[in-house]
Amino acid sequence: MDWHKVVSKLFIIMIIVSAIGLFVLADDEPLQKVETDVDIVTKKAKTGLSEKKTKSASKSLAFPRFTRPDSFWRKKLTQGQYYVARKKGTEPAFSGAYWSHHDDGVYTCVCCGSPLFDSEAKFDSGTGWPSYWQVVDKSLIKLHPDITGGVIRKEVNCRICGAHMGHVFDDGPRPTGLRFCINSASIKFVPRKKMPEYLEKWREEIGLPALEKAVNGAISN
Ligand SMILES: [Zn+2]
Repeated sequence: MDWHKVVSKLFIIMIIVSAIGLFVLADDEPLQKVETDVDIVTKKAKTGLSEKKTKSASKSLAFPRFTRPDSFWRKKLTQGQYYVARKKGTEPAFSGAYWSHHDDGVYTCVCCGSPLFDSEAKFDSGTGWPSYWQVVDKSLIKLHPDITGGVIRKEVNCRICGAHMGHVFDDGPRPTGLRFCINSASIKFVPRKKMPEYLEKWREEIGLPALEKAVNGAISN
């Protein structure tokens, strides 16, 4: 047996396992930096998410899952949106609707409508993709390790419907140092003045009022 080969293989496996382990452990770490600014942006976005959660039960209330069969997404989305949001695709740089979009409002999940990125946290990264230094509410997204292409990245998903948004990197501007690099195909812009009405519809659609009622009931009993 060639012990040199066995030992070097074991060494490589150990390095990969350690890297993935560190990545998973560090998964929520960058978002901790965001937390202090989340309420400010949330209030500006008039999402009402923070206030609602505080009133009911910030620890107990989880957002519901919005699951639909693949055929539903194929019908609802355009081909490009489906490829990016449901199949983890990436649109070409400088090709999407929002990389150079500067209106005041909120960018929502193209699939389930969750309010994910505020225009006030948008910046020009020069990459050709819409870029934000923070998310509206970190409980609305989920990060997953992505090791495709031999590079370790953090994939950003919509927590409610699982849609692929893009990736988050640690080379963003102050105050968070984060760069959420998002596909235009995964988001839909809503002007700020339309947000209150929009959010009411969204909450009904994903079943938040029913969940809040159930949680409040459980607490008061
Ligand atoms: Zn979604």
